[in-house]
Amino acid sequence: MDTTPTWRPAERVRGFTNSVFSEMTSLAMRTGAINLGQGIPEAASPVNLLRYATDAISTGENQYAPASGLPRLRDAIAQQRFSRYLTSYQPSDEVVVTTGATEAIAAAVLAFCGPGDQIITFDPCYDSYPAVASLAGAQLVAVPLRQDGDGFALDVAALRRAARSARSRLLILNTPHNPTGKVFTTAEIAAVADICLSHDLIVVTDEVYEYLTYDGREHQSIAALPGMMERTVAISSAGKTFNVTGWKVGWACGPAHLVGPLLAAKQFLSFSSGTPFQVAVAAALLSPETRDPWLDGLRSSLQRRRDILRDGLERAGLKTFRAEGGYFLQADVRGWGYDDDLQFCQELPRQAGVVAIPVSAFYQNAESAPRWLARFAFCKRDDVLSTAVEKLASAAPGSSSRTRTRTRTSDTPKQPDYRTIDNR
Ligand SMILES: *Cc1c(COP(=O)(O)O)cnc(C)c1O
Repeated sequence: MDTTPTWRPAERVRGFTNSVFSEMTSLAMRTGAINLGQGIPEAASPVNLLRYATDAISTGENQYAPASGLPRLRDAIAQQRFSRYLTSYQPSDEVVVTTGATEAIAAAVLAFCGPGDQIITFDPCYDSYPAVASLAGAQLVAVPLRQDGDGFALDVAALRRAARSARSRLLILNTPHNPTGKVFTTAEIAAVADICLSHDLIVVTDEVYEYLTYDGREHQSIAALPGMMERTVAISSAGKTFNVTGWKVGWACGPAHLVGPLLAAKQFLSFSSGTPFQVAVAAALLSPETRDPWLDGLRSSLQRRRDILRDGLERAGLKTFRAEGGYFLQADVRGWGYDDDLQFCQELPRQAGVVAIPVSAFYQNAESAPRWLARFAFCKRDDVLSTAVEKLASAAPGSSSRTRTRTRTSDTPKQPDYRTIDNR
């Protein structure tokens, strides 16, 4: 009897084979290169926040939180949303604490979309959006952002065409945007809102970088626009705001008719998580002495680190795009004679001792995707960025210290593994 298993993975995970994020991370480990691929922040977290969490653990706050989150954290989130955006949510049934923003996005999509439904987002996009669309059996329609000088712009006409389909149900808006670093302008957000209102779309807004905007730019929540509160789920997380990406404390705010079904899905994904971390995040959000100086410092230090990396990339002959918010800079690899971002990123660790991510990995439409952009994270220590920048300068074409070796392939895994989500 042949007992060889014949099962295959379910259709819904079959597309999850893109391993470029794990490929680049293991390349960094094997070559000892500086990993500017992953957006894991290297700076410290607010000391008070850390103390709140250890206090919570030692005083016994270690059991399940309610599925919707600890009441004091829901209160704190409602206060934060009101003081920052003037959007008012009832902590009792309009705020849900989740296992990071990732779970909030997944629960929103699973609660409202199924086979036959279309989810609209922008191209390129954060990679959990296509994955969760697939888990829901829904189709993701990614409307390309238009290159506009050294930035990216909303293509209103293309969005309107996509929204016109009777099957379009939900739109995911991410601003500040990963991977482009774009912060949607007031006019763009108004245009998105207008289209969602006229086509009766639910809006899921991923605002995890809500505080990380530079050069005086301000993040705006689409939920605050007239008529938008009742159709918008606003999602954020403590990870990027307080440099605690490992805590996975996120949240979703919206009217009860959206957040109720989201909670119904969420309770069977994780039920709840991170009770002592929820205690700590509540305390930090409620304490202006912890929160405000920390956030001002974080924003200005990230802006300074962006400038170190941007100036270094430019000096090394890699033209950069404007990073208005978030953790990442995109650079044009054609400056080094490449026309393939994947090849550039596979060769960069050996050539320059630096790891970046090929931006084509974030694109859904292969035909319209630029294949010449690499994404570099600047949420790293100053000395790490300075070293990376020096290495890039000496590896640049035309640099006297350049030793160019065009080795590749041996670093490319033959079999793509099922994707591990380590791309943040
Ligand atoms: C980091 C990131 C997330 C994930 O947030 P978690 O709170 O860690 O789940 C979601 N969206 C974007 C755009 C991100 O960059």
